[in-house]
Amino acid sequence: VIDTHNTNLSSLSSGDVVVGADIGGTNTTVGIVGEHGHQLLKSTFPTGGRGDAADFVGRLTRVIREMLGELSPPVVLRGIGMAAPAANWRTGVVESPANLNWGSVNLVAMVREHFDVPVAITNDANAALLGEMAYGVARGMSNVIMITLGTGLGAGIAVGGTLVQGENGAAGEFGHIIVDAGGRCCGCGRRGCVEAYVSASGLRRTVFELLADRLDESELRQISFNSLTAETVSRLAREGDAIASAAFAMTGEYLGRLLANLVAAFDPEAIVLYGGLVNAGDLLIGPTQRAFDEHALKVSRGRVRLLVSGLNSGQAGVLGASRLVCDVLLGVEGT
Ligand SMILES: [Zn+2]
Repeated sequence: VIDTHNTNLSSLSSGDVVVGADIGGTNTTVGIVGEHGHQLLKSTFPTGGRGDAADFVGRLTRVIREMLGELSPPVVLRGIGMAAPAANWRTGVVESPANLNWGSVNLVAMVREHFDVPVAITNDANAALLGEMAYGVARGMSNVIMITLGTGLGAGIAVGGTLVQGENGAAGEFGHIIVDAGGRCCGCGRRGCVEAYVSASGLRRTVFELLADRLDESELRQISFNSLTAETVSRLAREGDAIASAAFAMTGEYLGRLLANLVAAFDPEAIVLYGGLVNAGDLLIGPTQRAFDEHALKVSRGRVRLLVSGLNSGQAGVLGASRLVCDVLLGVEGT
């Protein structure tokens, strides 16, 4: 059980630091974090390359050593927290993460071969939620849901101040809630998952569906599927492109309905939206809020706050991962 209510990094005294590492499909961000979540140093490097997980761990631990060596006066490393896609907090294993050619590897055990300190891991959405609860818009809250909107849709859940991770670390796979039986193919091998609609790639698919269905003039007709980005859709929507606006409206409708369903299950105080797609701002949040208000149970209507993360990309993951290992140091969770 990870209790998210401990005083911020209270297990650290001055001169003590922990490492928070946010391991993404493309980049890894490492932060050296001291007392009160103060980030002393930060570094980002590409996760992938053609190497295997051992190659990555070699580079990660080298970066950590270099960063620690740069700090003056010298600091004491107390622990390492990691956030990674498809991470199982209980076993330390990362199961064949998408975009990385690692297979199933025990990252915790591999990092511990380099550093004799407690090492903890959780998935990226859980770490972002921990970061948000410790330092962001969900500070002080006990019942919160975090939705991360990037290439896919991830989520973290806190109930009664405790992170809900599930038996296999797979709780909160809301991206694979089926919202359209027999609908779009999903990366998980099934059809109709909400992630196939509400994500950066889902948005692109919606754009192409709308282009086929409607006759509106649109700059989007000149762009190939592979070169289309969520940023472009967002820019064109702002410039008044009807297809781009409709794509965001449809995405928000699906997201709002999903949130209404989650509220029925968890009755949170707030839902925090985080990730690249959220940069679209009101283009996405507006229709999401409307659909949410329309579909939420009466008891929750007007009560559950929809918040946008204030922590920038990577930061929530780094702080959350550092927070995770602090809980381990406090003895809230065994290693
Ligand atoms: Zn799926």
